[in-house]
Amino acid sequence: MTLPEVNRLYPTDDRCRELLERLRWPEGVMCPRCKDSRVSRLKDYARFQCSVCEYQFTVMSGTIFHDSHLPLPIWFLAVLLIVEAKKGMSAMQLKRTLWGEHRGSYKTAWYLCHRIRAAMASAEKAMLYGTIEMDETYVGGRQKSTRGHAGRIPYSESNKIAVIGIKQRGGELRFFKAEDVKSGTLAKYIKENVSEDVDVIMTDELPAYPGALAKAGQSRSKHKTVNHKQKVYVDGDITTNGIESAFSLLKRGIVGSWHKVSAKHLPAYLEEMTFRFNRRGRADLFIDTLRHMVTADPLTFERLTA
Ligand SMILES: [Zn+2]
Repeated sequence: MTLPEVNRLYPTDDRCRELLERLRWPEGVMCPRCKDSRVSRLKDYARFQCSVCEYQFTVMSGTIFHDSHLPLPIWFLAVLLIVEAKKGMSAMQLKRTLWGEHRGSYKTAWYLCHRIRAAMASAEKAMLYGTIEMDETYVGGRQKSTRGHAGRIPYSESNKIAVIGIKQRGGELRFFKAEDVKSGTLAKYIKENVSEDVDVIMTDELPAYPGALAKAGQSRSKHKTVNHKQKVYVDGDITTNGIESAFSLLKRGIVGSWHKVSAKHLPAYLEEMTFRFNRRGRADLFIDTLRHMVTADPLTFERLTA
């Protein structure tokens, strides 16, 4: 979907709502409260009323769009801009693109971005199989010098956040913000994301991996390692280059687009990055994102900023 196509197909609230209604209720409109399908459309067109419990609702009720006062065409453009930005887009950039330099509020744009991310996070994640590459990296942690000059002190391990990456070769990618990269933590993510029938798991020589695989119930014979310390990056077919290039895309997003990501909101950015990566090249990326927005639960501003 391109910008001119979105403008042509979804120029008004009514046109946007028609699509959202089809995505939310492919089998026909259903009352969100009592799940009955005996509903009638009210005169203002947007609202429905349930004949059983009398609840009045729109396609936006109880979804990511809940309580939003933004015109739907603006929502649609925001979704397109975000799903098409490979390295992500900052809320500030989105604000400038949709409303201009001096109009619109940063807070509105920021909340809008987070609601779209919450929809992305609701997507189902299948277990990975085949050939798996797994790696860990650190993001953030830059501190201003306290010594009064403009320089920055170097990265220190203590204030950086660990991100674990798992990628199926030719398949999907997962990123997780992790407390640490100890074997118990790695094991948890292997267990939750990697099928027991996986063929091979490739990692670097971090000493925690053998224990992690054992704890996750994976056979030792499936583990292949790349020795980065000895500058062996590709040993025949054994490489972690796939997950490493995914990490560099993530870091370019954090440094180049989002500038600064707090530890609290990092999981949301990781969800956005992997959602987009896993659907790259798919013609229905835009529609699929909207589908998640009318099937995911609302994200209130209070919960986001709690
Ligand atoms: Zn009802």
